[in-house]
Amino acid sequence: MHDDDAKRHDVIVVGGGQAGLAIGYFLAQQGRDFTILDAAAEPAAGWRERWDSLKLFTPARYNALPGLAFPGDPDRYPGREDVVAYLTDYARHFDLPVELGRRVRAIRKADGGYLVELDARAYAADQVVVATGPFQIPFVPAIAERLDGEVVQLHSTAYRSPDAIPEGRVLVVGGGNTGFQIAEELSASREVHLAIGSRQMPLPQRILGRDLFWYLDATGLIRKTAASRIGRRMAGRDTLIGSTPRALHRRHGVQLHGRATDAAGSTVSFDGATKLDVEAVIWATGFRVDHSWVDVPVFDGEDRLVHRRGVTASPGLYFLGLSWQHTRGSALLGWVKDDAEHIANQIETFSATVPAEPRAPERVA
Ligand SMILES: Cc1cc2nc3c(=O)[nH]c(=O)nc-3n(C[C@H](O)[C@H](O)[C@H](O)COP(=O)(O)OP(=O)(O)OC[C@H]3O[C@@H](n4cnc5c(N)ncnc54)[C@H](O)[C@@H]3O)c2cc1C
Repeated sequence: MHDDDAKRHDVIVVGGGQAGLAIGYFLAQQGRDFTILDAAAEPAAGWRERWDSLKLFTPARYNALPGLAFPGDPDRYPGREDVVAYLTDYARHFDLPVELGRRVRAIRKADGGYLVELDARAYAADQVVVATGPFQIPFVPAIAERLDGEVVQLHSTAYRSPDAIPEGRVLVVGGGNTGFQIAEELSASREVHLAIGSRQMPLPQRILGRDLFWYLDATGLIRKTAASRIGRRMAGRDTLIGSTPRALHRRHGVQLHGRATDAAGSTVSFDGATKLDVEAVIWATGFRVDHSWVDVPVFDGEDRLVHRRGVTASPGLYFLGLSWQHTRGSALLGWVKDDAEHIANQIETFSATVPAEPRAPERVA
């Protein structure tokens, strides 16, 4: 499709989750001509893909996007639906131009700016912000293919509640917050096993009556950059908030295993040569990012995005909301605003250098 056929904006934001909405807030404040394109049919798609009983690990006081408090008791731990409602309300409150059902298939350089291609249309823009989330493609290890068709298996994004899981023995694979929450929920009604591939650093949710994130905020740790010594150490090890393998076993009877290394029929093998027959497996094994549709040379030889705090070497192309884009807070509700504001400032500076669109001469009657 040619640039001439495309609808033009100064800025296009791809993705209307918390990152897309946060940058939208700053662009609206600048009075900029922009639109936010989201593939999903409904707002807050990322959160809708998570299980029904999900409880946030950040209390309400730390879940606000810029300009609008998260409702309710600031010390409560909201659920999934609270976030869906908040994000939906946020876009409405600031009248942000979110266009749903608009999956972007490609971004290319064109005529000094960018062409943003969808299935049946295209948009042109001087600047583009990619805010498609830190968790894109559900990752399932290859051993999953060796399990019998009779074993029910699903990735954590497809898990909603215990109702859809067979009565028998269930194995949850993945020792992160997701694996722990799902294993705990299932343990109320079935025999549950958890395979932990690499141990994450357990941190208590509350310490001396205060939430963990209060300490991370008060000490400045949440804003330590990925390039700092302590940031590098923090980024290298995921954290498990509010639980430990021991507590999960003692309080909920979940049986623990090492890394799941192989599978055959209905049997899964673990590090240490132990085996287990299972009726169902839930893969809480994380995600991969996919920026293969961004057809602009901003990736290294291993397809990793090269950027500085979301700003790429291609003028006017930015990323927002990546894990550790700048700090631990970069992909969290309450702190994504810091990077969003940074990118918005870059956009404002860059805009000042872009020559204004030539206008058609006014018609004289
Ligand atoms: C299980 C789980 C629990 C979490 N709990 C917390 C918590 O307690 N507190 C906290 O602060 N953070 C939490 N997070 C982290 C983070 O807040 C979320 O991952 C959040 O959804 C990230 O927001 P985002 O806007 O960057 O991405 P997303 O919410 O994933 O939004 C991306 C949007 O982009 C759209 N999109 C994707 N590709 C395209 C495309 N090609 N074209 C157009 N649109 C596209 C999607 O439809 C989606 O709406 C949690 C994450 C997970 C996985």
